[in-house]
Amino acid sequence: MPPNSPVFVPLDQIGLDRTTGVGPKLLAQLNKLGLNTIEDALYHLPSRYEDRRHLRKINQLQTGRQEVFCARVLAAGEALTSRSRRLLFEVIAEDETGRISLKWFHYRKSWLQKRFSIGQQFVFIGEIHSFGAQREIHHPDTEIIPQGVDPLELLSKDPLKFGRILPVYPLTEGLSQYKIRKIWFDLVKKYAPLVRSPLPIALAQKHGFLPLSEAIFRCHWPESDQSLSQLESGQDPARRSVVYDEFFFLELGLALKRHGIEIEQGIAFKVDHLYTKPLSALLPFRLTVAQRRVLGEIKRDMMSNVPMHRLLQGDVGSGKTIVALMAALIAIENETQVAVLAPTEILAEQHFSTFSQWLPHLGLRCELLRSGIPQSERKRILADLESGDLHLLVGTHAVLQEGVQFKRLGLGIVDEQHRFGVKQRGVLKQKGENPDILVMTATPIPRTLSMTLYGDLALSVIDELPPGRIPVKTHHYPEGRRNLAYEGLRRQLALGRQAYIVYPLVEETENSDLLAATEASVQLAAHFPDARIGLLHGRMKQADKDLVMQEFRSHQLDILVATTVIEVGVDVANATIMIIEHADRFGLAQLHQLRGRVGRGGDESFCFLLSSGHYSEEARQRLDVMVETSDGFRIAEADLEIRGPGEFLGTRQSGLPDFRVASILRDGDILEMARQDAFEFAQTTNYLADAATNEVKQELLRRWGGRLDLITIG
Ligand code: ADP
Ligand code: MG
Repeated sequence: MPPNSPVFVPLDQIGLDRTTGVGPKLLAQLNKLGLNTIEDALYHLPSRYEDRRHLRKINQLQTGRQEVFCARVLAAGEALTSRSRRLLFEVIAEDETGRISLKWFHYRKSWLQKRFSIGQQFVFIGEIHSFGAQREIHHPDTEIIPQGVDPLELLSKDPLKFGRILPVYPLTEGLSQYKIRKIWFDLVKKYAPLVRSPLPIALAQKHGFLPLSEAIFRCHWPESDQSLSQLESGQDPARRSVVYDEFFFLELGLALKRHGIEIEQGIAFKVDHLYTKPLSALLPFRLTVAQRRVLGEIKRDMMSNVPMHRLLQGDVGSGKTIVALMAALIAIENETQVAVLAPTEILAEQHFSTFSQWLPHLGLRCELLRSGIPQSERKRILADLESGDLHLLVGTHAVLQEGVQFKRLGLGIVDEQHRFGVKQRGVLKQKGENPDILVMTATPIPRTLSMTLYGDLALSVIDELPPGRIPVKTHHYPEGRRNLAYEGLRRQLALGRQAYIVYPLVEETENSDLLAATEASVQLAAHFPDARIGLLHGRMKQADKDLVMQEFRSHQLDILVATTVIEVGVDVANATIMIIEHADRFGLAQLHQLRGRVGRGGDESFCFLLSSGHYSEEARQRLDVMVETSDGFRIAEADLEIRGPGEFLGTRQSGLPDFRVASILRDGDILEMARQDAFEFAQTTNYLADAATNEVKQELLRRWGGRLDLITIG
């Protein structure tokens, strides 16, 4: 595509096969890396940079770096490697500051011998290794300097080798850095100027960002006065400009989605505290400041005629359920109904038991829609729902089924959002006329991440635990010190407390999972003959699970041996100790959720993490974090650091977009800027009507349309 061709072909429609230097073999490799088009290639930025602006002296060479220096041959010849006694070719080179050894392990002797005559001047390029006091380079690039020629002048002839900061690309097998540099150099020179972004230029200028085409060019080929440390930390203006552009369109998409919600007509609830006041009088505690603040935010949303789309975020045990209950009461006082959606039957059960603890006192009815209930009961529940006799319905996905019809749905409460997609939220909306939606999540998501994940939701955070909570004392014991965990368990049982013993899903089969947990309960029985031990696992029938949970809640059981089915929501205040078996196999978020099951009353609680045999460095980091802190946000941040954002919530479930250049960890500040700008832009611009902003919209759809469910915009 020549730059001034009359027909502009978008860069995402030109295949890489048209690029000079890219043959079928390389093309296949690039395709495997996800690089298919010119646009992909332009966004394939260097992973680091090499400073080749100056020649170094030998005494300045730094280990681990690619360096360029000028030196003369002092000696050359074959030698034996010290260890394996293999032949190698070695050149000793020197300048006025020192000496260095250059080594070849694969070579043609006659050629090297001839090339490295004593006294000849060279420029050498290569990575410096050190072995004790000895510094050496293996297979360096070499450039002869003829008599009387200035080495700097010689080098400057090849801009891909010297005189500037050079890009280092993530390497493709069988491809030298020099070759990929050459291909990319030509490609970037030719196509970067054609990159266009409809980002309003005023916004980029406001922050001092470069136009996208220039920014992309500079990411590949930095100016020679660019600070290397900025480049290495990803803080150079060029990269930041590309990141801003990327974030802006994402946030604009989210802003327009939100805007779309705002132009819908919702229910404007009135708040007379008909039920919330009596409930406050019934509760054995006062709401925390954070709970009251959040409730205020929810009330404000519910009173406005714009449908609420709010994310309620709060650490495990922070008291989200009570807040949700209060919101439910406001909806009910306005003669509408409430749906509560939970991701698992156990959690639905848990919510149902909380809600049915209070609602009957207020003369209100709630029901649980289980999957396995008899037809007659199901019929009765659905009939009551349709007639309006039922005020609140709790359930799993079953609530979203077709036959479930509300008389008037006013509020949908969705717990543990990340397991539900945007789509389910949509289905819930359709069950009423734009009901308010409150999404609850216990996953403490770092702010930058939650902005991209839930950017279309307003955010409320309960950042305070109910008073009197003592952080759970956490210890990590390797298998050999299991007895310490058992001693702790014995002490707690003697105090009349209850315990959880948790097993991971050992393999992907539920059978072996069951086996491990079953064996464990037998072994435990031997250690604790007086304890009443119950078993809870995924293969049990719902009714049996319910029974066991019921027994544990009412303290007919002392120890509950469970697979991870207890992961979310179980609430037994007298349970003060948890032992997690094979803790090294759990993820951080899961460990945190699990640990949140204890320490719910005012008593000192314990969590013992048992690890078995060898585990990875990552597992060790996870266990350390758990022992160090119980702050959900710290844990989430550590998790993000250890795993990286892609895996943080499991990309598929979370819908976390993949960025081409941006990093959520590194570029949080730019994300905030982009978000603010995009939301303002969406507010002040009539994007549907204005032709000038049409281009912005097209770009938005092109980049994110499929992934953000944005097709409906405009
Ligand atoms: P979450 O759903 O956020 O994990 P819950 O709503 O299940 O937390 O609350 C955890 C426990 O704390 C429950 O037993 C609940 O009754 C109790 N609780 C909630 N709010 C308060 C409060 N303000 N003061 C004391 N206890 C509270
Ligand atoms: Mg909860």
